[in-house]
Amino acid sequence: MSRMPGAVFDVEHGSEAMSRHDIVCVHTIVGTAPATAAHFSTAADGTIHQSRDTKFKSAANLSGNHRIIAIENEDRGSAFGAWDTSDGHAVPAFTPQQLDAIAKILAWAHKEHGIPLQLCPDSKPTSRGLAYHRQGIDGNFGPFRHPGRVEAGEQWSGSFGKVCPGDRRIDQLTAILEKAREIVEGGFDEVATKAEIKEAVREVVAEVVRDELTKQRKMLTDGGDGAGNVNKERNNLQNIRELITESTNDIIAKLG
Ligand SMILES: [Zn+2]
Repeated sequence: MSRMPGAVFDVEHGSEAMSRHDIVCVHTIVGTAPATAAHFSTAADGTIHQSRDTKFKSAANLSGNHRIIAIENEDRGSAFGAWDTSDGHAVPAFTPQQLDAIAKILAWAHKEHGIPLQLCPDSKPTSRGLAYHRQGIDGNFGPFRHPGRVEAGEQWSGSFGKVCPGDRRIDQLTAILEKAREIVEGGFDEVATKAEIKEAVREVVAEVVRDELTKQRKMLTDGGDGAGNVNKERNNLQNIRELITESTNDIIAKLG
């Protein structure tokens, strides 16, 4: 079973097993989330819906369904303003929250299913990575910035000329990919809980304290600084202890 932590899961809409996982494909709904034909949907506010376990096929990518994780994305509602849905150039960009949400899904799909963190070049059966729906669609895309299906590419829709997910959204794929890489490579709050970070800080501080105390003890045992100043060394030791305790408390307090 493959459900993404943090996603809102309602009812399972899938039933046929996927044969492999090669691609995460980005769509636009022309409506509001969720769109249950896809595995995931993002809302303007960054809410992630999951409508299908990723062990099951979506119904969003036609002949690519056996190997594609589909993400539908909201594009209507107050966050986007009014736009002409009959104009393929008018599809609004993702909100910053949606961009983050898609990156999170991609990072999860990378860890869970090994989807490579790269832009998918086209819909050919061997191509892998982060794709957009239009890559598997035939049409006259000359006036658009991003091309459609190439020869020998899989057909990801039967609707000729469907521009999904719109040029502005396709333009954002590079930023989504970068964000997903950051998450995977260890964005701090993505890999560790606050408690884990505190524990790590405590360990480092404890090690520094141990080393310093050992050094000071050795000096005391050896008779001070060589000139017999044992009391001075004792005071130093006490100062260092206090300093370290204060710094540790400061760091822990800052972590909240
Ligand atoms: Zn689409």
